[in-house]
Amino acid sequence: MPRGITEPDNLGHFGPYGGMFVPETLMSPLKELAEQYDKVRRDAAFHKELDYYLRNFVGRPTPLYHAQRLSKELGATVYLKREDLCHTGAHKINNSLGQVLLARRMGKRRIIAETGAGQHGVATATVAAMFGLECVIYMGAVDMERQALNVSRMRRLGATVVSVTAGQQTLKEAINEAMRDWVTNVRETHYILGSVLGAHPYPMMVRDFQSVIGRETRRQILAAEQRVPTHIIACVGGGSNAIGIFYPFIKDKRVRLIGVEAGGDAIKPGHHAARFAGGRLGILQGTRTFVLQDADGQIQLTHSVSAGLDYAAVGPEHALLRDLKRAEYYHASDAEAMKAVNTLCRLEGILPALESAHAIAYAMKKRRSFKSRDLIIFNLSGRGDKDVQQMETWDATHLKDGAKKP
Ligand SMILES: *Cc1c(COP(=O)(O)O)cnc(C)c1O
Repeated sequence: MPRGITEPDNLGHFGPYGGMFVPETLMSPLKELAEQYDKVRRDAAFHKELDYYLRNFVGRPTPLYHAQRLSKELGATVYLKREDLCHTGAHKINNSLGQVLLARRMGKRRIIAETGAGQHGVATATVAAMFGLECVIYMGAVDMERQALNVSRMRRLGATVVSVTAGQQTLKEAINEAMRDWVTNVRETHYILGSVLGAHPYPMMVRDFQSVIGRETRRQILAAEQRVPTHIIACVGGGSNAIGIFYPFIKDKRVRLIGVEAGGDAIKPGHHAARFAGGRLGILQGTRTFVLQDADGQIQLTHSVSAGLDYAAVGPEHALLRDLKRAEYYHASDAEAMKAVNTLCRLEGILPALESAHAIAYAMKKRRSFKSRDLIIFNLSGRGDKDVQQMETWDATHLKDGAKKP
């Protein structure tokens, strides 16, 4: 795999970011994982096996779709990278599959994972079922209620879903529980972390597994347009779908790489998850990066209409890309994302995940700045079926009485 300009050192530092900020008991499993990953990343047989399942189980390559009516709307040529068409409905399975194949090589019989919105939990339960491995998913009690559909999918797939009732009862607490389980059961257990977060080697490893998105995109856009895009735009929760599509274009300075965070209902503490707008340097769950925290370093509450973007820290490689001015980061609000959902439905017949809609929303705001020669690719990270209940609730509470649905 070609290496970029933001490779971490062997302790996982991306410049001043990243690293391994974990208790002593987690150091040896992380080091073992880093060593094993280092072996398989250079192993042709591993890549052959991964490619086989990506093609025949996940359904790759996903299409790069020329969105003609959205092109007209934005005044530029627009393509959508259709990660929503992956098996289970989002990009998360690219990473779950890579890690489960690694776990098998390490002789681990038990898989654990955390999940927020549930997409990572579903993807992980799916690959664990396919290989006949035991699977335990940790999920905040509040998220279990908000994402009941995904809880029932995971259980149907044979996973045990453990309700986490500490603190805010969402993703952060679920990660804590998964780390605790891992320390206790590390001999037979592999922890599949779902984004480019946590301690080394996760941010690098998850990026590598997700960069299949960018490699395909590069090939597809050159075949369709005979040039690289002017803009690549992706939503940023932890940042795995964004880094996955950015990575193979990082050396190409002509391509603007744009990440869009969740602006929530206001850029005020507790009302958003835009780490680059309201956060500062800190350490959360094993990595040093931009974190939403108060003056005493207490982690702030976050809010977003989309559960998948609702987390207090951002992947460390994104922090470095921003310092290097190689990628730019903006935010879109709940209301703007909801409007983008409806636009994509009506113009293209595609119901996007609320997360993915943030990327479209940013471009709709910037519509006037695009030129007709511009070639824009959106990473459509997932489909919106999981979010329909949330969308109905949003309409019911935000659209004025008697107002027609947009
Ligand atoms: C989880 C998720 C995200 C956010 O995670 P990243 O690591 O930032 O990609 C975005 N879109 C969808 C559909 C998701 O399920």
